[in-house]
Amino acid sequence: ELAERGQGEYQLRQANAQLETQMKQIKGLQMILREQAVRDPLTGLYNRRYLDETQGRELARAAREGYPVSFVMIDIDHFKDVNDRFGHDAGDHVLRKLAALIQDQTRVGGIICRYGGEEILAILPNVAAEVAFQITERWRLAFMDFTLPSELGYVKATISCGIAEYPAHGNTVGELITLADKAMYQAKAAGRNQVVIWHVAS
Ligand code: GH3
Ligand code: MG
Ligand code: MG
Repeated sequence: ELAERGQGEYQLRQANAQLETQMKQIKGLQMILREQAVRDPLTGLYNRRYLDETQGRELARAAREGYPVSFVMIDIDHFKDVNDRFGHDAGDHVLRKLAALIQDQTRVGGIICRYGGEEILAILPNVAAEVAFQITERWRLAFMDFTLPSELGYVKATISCGIAEYPAHGNTVGELITLADKAMYQAKAAGRNQVVIWHVAS
């Protein structure tokens, strides 16, 4: 009887250990799923869902602590032509390169998100518009320097960028994105390959 009880305890311990391993695996998988749900598969950047879920809170915090937040909208110039001339895969490659470049040059706390097809939104907490301008200029110049060799020739592209600052230009995430987008179109209208801080068009 004693031996039987010993065996029973042993089996119980084993079952517990197994359960614990499985729990760890499930927790790991949950983390991967959660991460996948908020990431864009092509670029690895955050997606719109993540933006919607988190950025209201970010602004509330900026308001509490009294610092500015810059919203930077980035759009590749004549990207349709890149696809048309060099193929969609080359286009994808250029887009991934831009995403990696911006991600790598952004300090902790900055949030980089694939906003649309070839539009990237960078949210930079505690960065005023003038500083965001300097940062974005660095991205623009670095991207200009990039060349992708392809079977059909060398691929080069440029970006146009618009900046809006919380709270100077707007109070909500929606407003700030709209203004950054408008500033980006001002950069397009002014000849592309440039950065514009939002201003009332004269
Ligand atoms: P503009 O300088 O005015 O921005 O011109 P554009 O050609 O970049 O603008 P438009 O909005 O007309 O076209 C955007 C193009 O981006 C169209 C679409 O084929 C391409 N695009 C969007 N998402 C992707 C993507 O994930 N991969 C590739 N390769 N192309 C994409
Ligand atoms: Mg474009
Ligand atoms: Mg676009």
